[in-house]
This record gives sequence, C-alpha cells and structure tokens, in this order.
Amino acid sequence: MIIVLRPDHQEEDLSRIVQRLEDMGLRAHISKGEHRTIIGAIGDERLIAELPMQSFPGVESVLPILKPYKLVSREFKPENTVIRVNGSEIGGQQIQIIAGPCAVESREVLDEIADAIQPAGVKFLRGGAFKPRTSPYAFQGWGEKGLKFLASVRDRHGMMVVTELMDPRDTVLVCKYADIVQIGTRNMQNFRLLTEVGNIDKPVILKRGLCATIKEFLMSAEYIMAQGNEKVILCERGLRTFETETRNTLDISAVPLLKQLTHLPVIVDPSHAVGRVDLVPAMAKAAIAAGADGLLVEVHVRPEEALSDGPQSLRPKDFSKMVEDCRRVAEAVDRFI
Ligand code: PEP
Ligand code: MN
Repeated sequence: MIIVLRPDHQEEDLSRIVQRLEDMGLRAHISKGEHRTIIGAIGDERLIAELPMQSFPGVESVLPILKPYKLVSREFKPENTVIRVNGSEIGGQQIQIIAGPCAVESREVLDEIADAIQPAGVKFLRGGAFKPRTSPYAFQGWGEKGLKFLASVRDRHGMMVVTELMDPRDTVLVCKYADIVQIGTRNMQNFRLLTEVGNIDKPVILKRGLCATIKEFLMSAEYIMAQGNEKVILCERGLRTFETETRNTLDISAVPLLKQLTHLPVIVDPSHAVGRVDLVPAMAKAAIAAGADGLLVEVHVRPEEALSDGPQSLRPKDFSKMVEDCRRVAEAVDRFI
C-alpha cells in the first residue's frame, strides 16, 4: 500500500503513521520526493488492507500496489534511484560504462586492458574472479588471487571494481575487493544469494536470467531490496531464444519497460547479449537510444588469447570508437558519457 501525504503534512503525522505500521509488524518505507512524501507499507497484504490509513491526519490518498513487487516499483518511488559510488553516479544524467575482460587472467593483462580503456572515460573495471562456466573443465577463474589483481589494478588506475559473486560463502571475500557486486544471469533466482547481497552495503548489479520474464527479474530485485539494500542496478543481457546466429537475443524493449515499471537504474550488456564482436557496437548504441543508464562491455587486448568469451570481446581500438559513437547517441537523448 502507498500512503501519499498532503504537501502540508506535519512531521508528527508522518511519525504517527510509521509507528502504527510498525506496531502492526509492517515495514514503512519513506520516500521524500521534491513535491510529495509517500510511505510504502510492506508486509502481510491482509493486514495492510485492513488499515484505516485514509483517516490519519496528513494523509491525502491511499493506493494499493497491485504489482507483486513493491519496493522496486515506480509507484512506490516515482523518482529515479541514483546510485553513488566513490563520486560517480549510476542512474543519473551520465551514462556509465563498465568495461574489462570476461575473466581476470593475470595482473599484467588486466593492467594492459585498464590502460587501454581508461582514456575512453571508463571509471568501472569489470572482470570475473569466480566464473560461472558451462563446462566444469573450462577456466573457472582465479578466485581470491583474481580479486587481488583487480584491487591492485584499481589502485593503480583509480578505477572501481565490478566483479561477480557466485556463492554466499564468498560474500565477505568478494566485498573486500569489489566496489560493485555482480549477480550473474545463472544466479538471478538463487534466492539465498539474493538475500545475502540484500544485506551488504554495496551496489549490486543483478543480471536478468536467461529465460526470466520481466516480472521474475523484478521479483529477484525485490528480494535484494526487501533485505534493506536499495542499491540495485538491473542489467539486461539477452535472452535465450530459438535464434542461433547470436548467442542470445537482446531484449531492447526491456530497457524502456523496466524504466517505466521501476525507479532502479537499468544497464545493458551487449557483449553477452550477442556473443559476437561485430554486433556489439550496434547493440550498445541501441541500448543508449532506448534509455539505458549504462553499458557492461567485455574488452580484451588480445581476444584470441582470452581465457573466456574472446569472440565477444572488443579490442581497445574498436571499444574506443564504439564509446565515441555512443557519446553522440547519448547527446541525442539528452544524456552524456
Ligand atoms: C559476466 O558478465 O561475466 C557473465 C558471466 O555474464 P552473464 O551472467 O550475463 O552470463
Ligand atoms: Mn563473459
């Protein structure tokens, strides 16, 4: 339920309502916008329906939230969520580019990649130390050694680190090195893991599951937010379809749709979406035109030597050209990179 307060409400009206909700074992989520303060009541729907909130002083209107997701919904919080990480914003006017190799391979290669992408204005370095591979015989990532490489390259370049967490048992370890924690597509409905990152104080990139509907995707984001972590970034990364020419099919309509349904930042991963380096720049431009708040892109200095996802990893030269083209698209939609 959403309780909209009158513009002239008193502070004590607000605290009385919050107290009443809490007395009933419900959670009150306060959102103070420029023009309106709204309170979201979260908990047992039957209890919420019985509350006579309309008659409380300071209340303008009471609206039910019909959608199964609450905290993530735009009804709940009309303004965009802007996530601040070390002075950079995700979800604001600026479009952020997160780039780097699929997997962290060595400190030297990571360093070369960081050197090559930073001039394009990249502030976030990606790279997996724990890799979710289809084959148990494929390179699984270096674990903590990889996290240490990321941290040392971050310190040398002054960039921020985005890396995947696959197992709740590694949460403390990954959080020690990551500025943003990524939940991969295969774990979008790993509810234990979602609950775990709901309790950390770091932004979380939640990648859409291979076959997840928008509703399922948002319910997974709700899992994280329900624990108290409001810094969730949604990432569209392509869906599994009948098409075999591309690795997945990028659901570009998910971008404006998610922006409509939720206040959370939405980014796009064109690399995993198509799995082919020749199509990545076009998808990146399309994502920005569609309203994405950022891109997650795989880049490698020598894709032919990459330990994973070489065929979809851009060379730095092509990456820089792509970013330049994206800048122009961003300007056309009143954003900047
Ligand atoms: C990744 O970004 O490293 C990754 C494994 O992507 P996804 O979970 O989308 O397959
Ligand atoms: Mn990859």
